[in-house]
Amino acid sequence: MKIPSGTPAKRRGRFAPTPSGLLHIGNAFAALAAWLQIRHAGGEFLLRVEDIDKPRSRPAFAERQQDDLLWLGLDWDEGPRVGGPHAPYEQSRREELYEAALETLLAANRLYPCYCSRAELASVASAPHGLSSEGPAYPGFCRHLTEEERAAKAAVKEPALRFRMPSEPFSFEDAFAGFRSYSGDALGDFVVKRADGMYGYQLAVVVDDAAMGITDVVRGADLLDSTPRQLALYEALGLPTPRFAHVPLLGDGSGERFSKRDKSLTLAALRGEGVQAERLIGLLAHVAGWIDRPEPASAAELIPHFAPIRTAEQPLPIGDDMLRWLRSTF
Ligand code: GLU
Repeated sequence: MKIPSGTPAKRRGRFAPTPSGLLHIGNAFAALAAWLQIRHAGGEFLLRVEDIDKPRSRPAFAERQQDDLLWLGLDWDEGPRVGGPHAPYEQSRREELYEAALETLLAANRLYPCYCSRAELASVASAPHGLSSEGPAYPGFCRHLTEEERAAKAAVKEPALRFRMPSEPFSFEDAFAGFRSYSGDALGDFVVKRADGMYGYQLAVVVDDAAMGITDVVRGADLLDSTPRQLALYEALGLPTPRFAHVPLLGDGSGERFSKRDKSLTLAALRGEGVQAERLIGLLAHVAGWIDRPEPASAAELIPHFAPIRTAEQPLPIGDDMLRWLRSTF
């Protein structure tokens, strides 16, 4: 497996869920925005199964997620079930590529062994949904070890590998969220491979987006703060960066973010209640500002209506009246 170079002729987008649970209404919004954006641009859409965290991932969830996407009318040109030139589309089967990227980073002195055992290492393979799930920036203990200190630690412990985050600012123009700027120092060094061999989300997502020729990353706004880390990896690996667009989160009428744990808003539960996919699509399109009022719509008929979603700091509200409309059948 080799990372292709050069710009693909067509725009290429993707949806990349982790199969550790069922898709919920917020995932449906991000998937719809990613799909519409690329269909509007006449590009190609790809589905990737982000299952590098093997203990947390279940093939059965991947299957249900795919059924839910098809129920919504969101198909993919490449990915599981349909195959494609960049197969396999499951991260658990792409570890050779991550290892090759690590070798490049090691040769360029961008990584160092880390012997710390902080709680954060537990979830390094999962996308950090919001800063609070990440904890404070790594203070850099192992960055500054002397050779002797390193050798003493290496004798008793397998290290993780940590990426040396440059201290310069990282900025980018987000197609939905606007201009963003971050200080590399504040973000801190992050783990790209755990001592037990598990690869980190940030590394895997960058390697795969590059290898699959992705030009447009459209995903939930809770991953905004991952983007500068990913930009640093693209730079260190000498890879071209995609455009980024972060989809606002959804919340209830009082602006409280919907919790993933709220099982009544999973697509499976909504389907089970008899909610029509076209109502859910129409409601999300209205919240995004693509149509003036909630009305049933198919994803395909919204393609001409796609426009960047203005991002607010607060989650976009879906009030009880809208949820009642979603569940009604007349
Ligand atoms: N697999 C990640 C998640 O489920 C999303 C990765 C991405 O879109 O960059 O949260």
